[in-house]
Amino acid sequence: STVTRTYILPPNEDTKENFAADARPSNVDKILGFSCPRKEVEAGNVARKLSMGAGFNAPQSEPRGFGGFRNLQELETLKEKGVLGDHGGGSGSRIQVFVRLRPMAKKEKEAGSRCCVRIVNRRDVYLTEFAAENDYLRLKRLKGRHFAFDSSFPDSTSQHDVYSTTTADLVEAVLQGRNGSVFCYGATGAGKTYTMLGTMDNPGVMVLAIKDLFSKIRQRSYDGNHVVQLSYLEVYNETVRDLLAPGRPLVLREDKQGITASGLTQYRAYSTDEVMSLLQQGNRNRTTEPTRANETSSRSHAILQVLVEYRVRDESNNIVSRVGKLSLIDLAGSERALATDLRTLRSLEGANINRSLLALSSCINALVEGKKHIPYRNSKLTQLLKDSLGGACNTVMIANISPSNLSFGETQNTLHWADRAKEIRTKACDAN
Ligand code: ADP
Ligand code: MG
Repeated sequence: STVTRTYILPPNEDTKENFAADARPSNVDKILGFSCPRKEVEAGNVARKLSMGAGFNAPQSEPRGFGGFRNLQELETLKEKGVLGDHGGGSGSRIQVFVRLRPMAKKEKEAGSRCCVRIVNRRDVYLTEFAAENDYLRLKRLKGRHFAFDSSFPDSTSQHDVYSTTTADLVEAVLQGRNGSVFCYGATGAGKTYTMLGTMDNPGVMVLAIKDLFSKIRQRSYDGNHVVQLSYLEVYNETVRDLLAPGRPLVLREDKQGITASGLTQYRAYSTDEVMSLLQQGNRNRTTEPTRANETSSRSHAILQVLVEYRVRDESNNIVSRVGKLSLIDLAGSERALATDLRTLRSLEGANINRSLLALSSCINALVEGKKHIPYRNSKLTQLLKDSLGGACNTVMIANISPSNLSFGETQNTLHWADRAKEIRTKACDAN
């Protein structure tokens, strides 16, 4: 069945016309004017209307008021009946997409920046020109648009909260032999490494995942039965390096188990304590920008792979070995390199931008469009992630954004991309 994605234009008195061109989401077919009397708009309910209007699926019909529906009640009823959902049809499960807003940095404050992002109900993200506390109803100030994700984390969200909402389920699945992967992406400085690695006092997803993994193994007295192996590698300039044993670049090989980097250190881990320092050491081995020593290159991708091997008895009572793999990925800075459509993608390809990130963009576009051929072979990163994107795998994306209006463009770009990633469907998950 054909569906038209309809976007109801938020009421913006100043830029009614231009708004559509700037803010037209990539997955939308039709943009409708917001035909609501101003009095009613100001009386309240605005956030609700905006969130209902943005990006839902509406059956093909003439533009008429709220996306072709006579009124909001009609729309709500259809939503309740399940006729309308937040995302399109298709089989398999969707990639889960989260957004994390970081606190305003001191530097940004000193530069006189204002906050241009507002998160409401841990789900909705409003990109506004100016969003002060309780200010999102002031429509005149709305410059950008509205997005909704599986969860959106305001700047006060703890590392633990981010971990348990985004990754805890994947850790559970890995213990049952299912693969999973978590990506962090966003512009340089948006909080990717903080989210993934964190600090000694506030460890991030990588460390919390391993901690949780060990505690689950202990709780169920799986000891001895489960072997946990870690590898930590970097893709920089289309070269793959072992972050736990820096040295010569690694060669990718394809075998029965998929694509592996030959000679990669598999670190057998026994406890959580050793992991944080191991990862921090690994991170110090990440490629640094030649001009700014000690500063991690914004073009380096770091991938932590956690392999959990365990033995179970099969139907014939034979002991068989199973493996679950969790990949945690701190992507390179997305500035200029994330394309939400093919045209932008082509124009970016000519420029000197991260090839792996562009290739990831192409794979995501191909997956969203349901193409048979997914161009995994175009880069080292996508080769490594072949079994973690779109396959029988749990996939989580965390988009990191800054609150500052000085990063408005990057933030808008990241949110567009995240919005697009919501459309990827993965095959139903089976234990291998
Ligand atoms: P990226 O890896 O995306 O380039 P970083 O993770 O290095 O960005 O974050 C940039 C700066 O902001 C760092 O100093 C980091 O400690 C800080 N930061 C990022 N996210 C948070 C957060 N949620 N809470 C506190 N500080 C943060
Ligand atoms: Mg970083």
